[in-house]
Amino acid sequence: MLLSQKFRVYPNRAQSDALAAMLRDFCKLYNAGLEQRIAAYRTRGISLNYGTQAKELKAVRAADDGLARWSFTAEQQVLRRLDKTFKGFFGRIKRGERAGFPRFRSASRYHAAEFRVGDGLTVRKNGRLGFVGVPGEIKVKQHRPLAAEPKSAILTRQNGKWFVVFHVEIAEVERRAGECIGIDIGLSSLVALSNGETIVRPNWTKCTKKGLRRRQRSLTRCRRGSKRRTKMRARLANYSAKVARKRSDFLHKLSADLVSRFAAIGIEDLNVKGLARGMLAKEVNDAAWAQLTAMLRYKAAKAGSALIEVDPRGTSQTCPECGTIKPKPLGERRHRCECGCDLDRDVAAAMVVHFRAFGFWPGHGLQDSSGRVAA
Ligand SMILES: [Zn+2]
Repeated sequence: MLLSQKFRVYPNRAQSDALAAMLRDFCKLYNAGLEQRIAAYRTRGISLNYGTQAKELKAVRAADDGLARWSFTAEQQVLRRLDKTFKGFFGRIKRGERAGFPRFRSASRYHAAEFRVGDGLTVRKNGRLGFVGVPGEIKVKQHRPLAAEPKSAILTRQNGKWFVVFHVEIAEVERRAGECIGIDIGLSSLVALSNGETIVRPNWTKCTKKGLRRRQRSLTRCRRGSKRRTKMRARLANYSAKVARKRSDFLHKLSADLVSRFAAIGIEDLNVKGLARGMLAKEVNDAAWAQLTAMLRYKAAKAGSALIEVDPRGTSQTCPECGTIKPKPLGERRHRCECGCDLDRDVAAAMVVHFRAFGFWPGHGLQDSSGRVAA
């Protein structure tokens, strides 16, 4: 299983200037590669691929002092990235989807470079990073040890801050036995569990929404191209980044807690096509839900827990006691059924998720992750 580990890096002035120059050169290479593909198609009617472009890279570097400074393999990655963009474009065309032709990139929006670890990017014995063409070693805030020897890495710039993301391959762990749980995105709470627990929506979600709106408004009030507008844009970006950090911190803790307590977790599969939700609160939560699912997926794999994704259709309308379909209006916070079942609506939905994942209702049957046995 592939795991990404992200760390903040602290280059000094000379180093960050060099990194910025490197991204500018990579951006130029990307655009030149794109131009070459377009020209080849227009004049000769042929599509260039990665192989032909990479073959010319050596000669291009020999003629360009700028490019010759940096890692050869990292520059190959730039051409690979361009190739991927084209493949994605043609794939969408083939499937009959709307697709925009690959665009030239502006250096002010080019923020990432890929490296092979041990080649263009080396991790020194003292934990610092060395990049080909960048003076000295760069400090890394390694807030946790690397799970394994990384094979590849991405250097990114976000709001003027630098980060490195290592990709490490970790072995799958053997399944452990233990309790199962079904979870659902809440309407009134953030998450509801099939055992009746609900996790309250952190109150900062509301505050941040207000804060974002206020900053967005002041940005739109600034004149285009003005200094104030640039400043406001940076302020908005910083605020958004802070919100994102808070959310991901919260979700990390939540997913870690769930994985440590349960050996099998049932969850709604967001990828099911034709997902007819129509519930605003749920839609707003979807981004966070996708993030939580991703975190649960790798944490479960690391801990030997199972994550089972189920069809989400109608989970909030099925009675967990008698199975009747019972549509309820948005404002209805309770699930009340003729059979006498009276539950929090989100908990009821989580119980339905539990049933779909494991084949038995919570509290019935074998409480074992391997036991998909009905009671
Ligand atoms: Zn019922």
